[in-house]
Amino acid sequence: MTGYCPFQVLTAREVRCELGKGSFSPKDSEEPWACAGCSIPRVLANRPCIYLEPVKHFALRGKSITFFRCTMFGVVIDEPFRLCPQCVGNEPAPRAH
Ligand code: SF4
Ligand code: SF4
Repeated sequence: MTGYCPFQVLTAREVRCELGKGSFSPKDSEEPWACAGCSIPRVLANRPCIYLEPVKHFALRGKSITFFRCTMFGVVIDEPFRLCPQCVGNEPAPRAH
């Protein structure tokens, strides 16, 4: 994980992903399939379009799926940093204060 994730909740025993409804140990959170390999914090930190929604699914332990959904055009996007900057519908989220 690169930086702050608004979906991550830390407790004394576990790391919880509110987006994917998954919980894992602090050690597992450092694995590529968990927070350490998750592109969502990086994308959200970059003022994404207000129509971009991140999606995270934890299927089996040790596996996850991450993608983004455009609610404006109803499409799924793997790499929003390639497509969204060229899109006429791009409306960046307000700057955080
Ligand atoms: S898996 Fe991704 S979205 Fe979920 S808490 Fe970790 S960094 Fe955030
Ligand atoms: S920039 Fe365009 S493709 Fe990307 S989320 Fe916004 S409307 Fe959808």
